Amino acid sequence: LNNIAVLTSGGDAPGMNAAVRAVVRTGIYHQLNVYGIMYGYRGMLKNEIFPMESKSVANIIQRGGTILKTARCREFYEYEGRKMAYENLKKHNIDGLVVIGGDGSFNGAQKFSQEFDIPCIGLPGTIDKDIAGTDSTIGFDTAVNTAVEAIDKIRDTADAHDRLFVIEVMGRDAGYIALHSGISTGAEHILMPERKTEVNDIIEELQANERRRKLVNLIVVAEGDETGGAQEVGRIIKERCPQLDTRVSILGHIQRGGAPTCTDRILASRLGYAAVDALLEGIHNVMIGVVNDKIHYTPLDKAVKAKQEIDPEWFKIVKILAS
Ligand code: ADP
Repeated sequence: LNNIAVLTSGGDAPGMNAAVRAVVRTGIYHQLNVYGIMYGYRGMLKNEIFPMESKSVANIIQRGGTILKTARCREFYEYEGRKMAYENLKKHNIDGLVVIGGDGSFNGAQKFSQEFDIPCIGLPGTIDKDIAGTDSTIGFDTAVNTAVEAIDKIRDTADAHDRLFVIEVMGRDAGYIALHSGISTGAEHILMPERKTEVNDIIEELQANERRRKLVNLIVVAEGDETGGAQEVGRIIKERCPQLDTRVSILGHIQRGGAPTCTDRILASRLGYAAVDALLEGIHNVMIGVVNDKIHYTPLDKAVKAKQEIDPEWFKIVKILAS
């Protein structure tokens, strides 16, 4: 192993920079040449590949987004596109590739590594935490903390005006951001795709709350919940409980940005270091995660979108603590 490359792909997540930094500096420590690839697979196809030094990653551990930029690339779905990308890597004699991204990016890396002789390592970078083979993903902790901070602020207004707020958080088709932010802000209800919620039950509870004059109510809804998101939940509540002062708030993209938390920086640093370690040891075509605080390898073809089991006891806890 002499020359390795690193790229970020798919949706950006806070902590990706910390992971890039770890890959670059660990590679240089082992006397490898490290290349950065701009704009994910698109840059691989367009030969936007440049040598990186230790100072190329100075002052980025604390920054959100990704200095390598990220993109989605249609051509990479086709063999011809992947072949072109391979030829560009060959021009730089690259013999190892680290892909920081989500399950889509791993699908691409899996195909690429089957077709061509370039070992790939995937690192889970997504705020959604919806990937098998790891307890968390780079960006999740930051996104949850951002959501918590925002919901706390909304709670102040909810309290001042005795309002009911229905708040939508991100997560695509996973509900982890909703679950964690909802528990941490004392939400009465958490709606998420992993568990069906009957809106009727919520309405009944709201009416009961009103009878006992519990005036502040927060409902956190994952964007992928099958009821149809916060707008729809808010619409139903307004229709069925017109006496309540109900507002809807969609947190949106603030959840994707910002300085990574300490937890995400540590995870990203550890995984970036482990990626180079794995390439040096000849461990190929795996995604590296952390399970029970230990480095864990998952073959790229198993590093798929996964709904982890959510212990039903959490919903009991939510109910008891909000009552
Ligand atoms: P994420 O990695 O965040 O899940 P995407 O699903 O958009 O994001 O995937 C990122 C990129 O990975 C895509 O734009 C594409 O270039 C590549 N990719 C995704 N799925 C495949 C696939 N099945 N085959 C080849 N390339 C893929």
